[in-house]
Amino acid sequence: MSLVVVGSIAFDRVKTPFGEREHLLGGAATHFALAASFFTEVRMVGVVGEDFGDEEFETLHSRGINTEDVEVVKGGKSFFWHGEYGYDLNDRKTHDTQLNVFENFEPKLSDAAKECRMLFLGNIVPSLQSRVRSLCKKVEFSALDSMNLWIETAHDDLVEAIKAVDVAMLNDAEIRQLTGEPNLARAARKIMQLGPTVVVAKQGEYGAALFTGDTFFALPAYPLETVLDPTGAGDSFAGGFLGYMDAHESHELSDDAVLRRAMTYGSVMASFNVEEFGTERVHKLTSDEITERFRQFKQITHFEEIPFKQPAGTTR
Ligand code: AMP
Repeated sequence: MSLVVVGSIAFDRVKTPFGEREHLLGGAATHFALAASFFTEVRMVGVVGEDFGDEEFETLHSRGINTEDVEVVKGGKSFFWHGEYGYDLNDRKTHDTQLNVFENFEPKLSDAAKECRMLFLGNIVPSLQSRVRSLCKKVEFSALDSMNLWIETAHDDLVEAIKAVDVAMLNDAEIRQLTGEPNLARAARKIMQLGPTVVVAKQGEYGAALFTGDTFFALPAYPLETVLDPTGAGDSFAGGFLGYMDAHESHELSDDAVLRRAMTYGSVMASFNVEEFGTERVHKLTSDEITERFRQFKQITHFEEIPFKQPAGTTR
């Protein structure tokens, strides 16, 4: 079992209607790795500055995450993102993005990273996603995330990156924007025609949908009464999804039942992530809590088929 993630490792400043935090451990690779670490061995590929200290590394190491492929740039500053959410938590404003050491990020993969079986290409420049994908020759299952910025400024490179992965895991709005197709089912099909056999459409507080060649599955988001910070929900979802897939044999990776459970573990991890700011909730999560919420997902999405009887005297 080995899962590699490449993506941002950051300090986030986040404001929501429920509070504000100045110096949160964040970044797509961080949220992904913490979630996936409950299911498998995770190796992060990324870059940080000297401000990324023992405390931050300890948060990752305490979950068994391998950071040998995280480059520390001497005298550099880590990626910084400042965002704000209103009462509609699906709607966020970016106040500031300071790329810092991330600006000249050139992923350098150790031999161990190149040997990985599973790969998650977090939201970075699409040409770098393609480069990392091509370095990992033994990958059996790979997934990719992106964002509107790359759809607008590097569309063709993003299409090339998508061609090389098994799963495109994007927000529903991004799937529509990328394909120029307003109907989500048709848009997902267009993406599958490029190469991926699976498309996952993340729909924020409405959950997530899974499209494969001939099946469809969807889950609502877990009905939480307390959501403090949605940052990283998508990456936590991806971490739960790929982490769970890594616990399976090669012939099971296209099994619809396995993919459905991966969707559920993804939704479970996303639901925990948003309960507190940054990585605070996932950091103190237990496997028992994950198992319990998985069961609750089964319960809230289950229904019996009871044949409908036409009441006497009514017409068809
Ligand atoms: P998500 O909420 O899943 O979109 O991911 C949130 C994380 O992405 C935050 O922790 C940010 O540090 C990071 N982030 C924000 N903007 C960017 C960007 N342009 N490139 C890479 N990562 C970013």
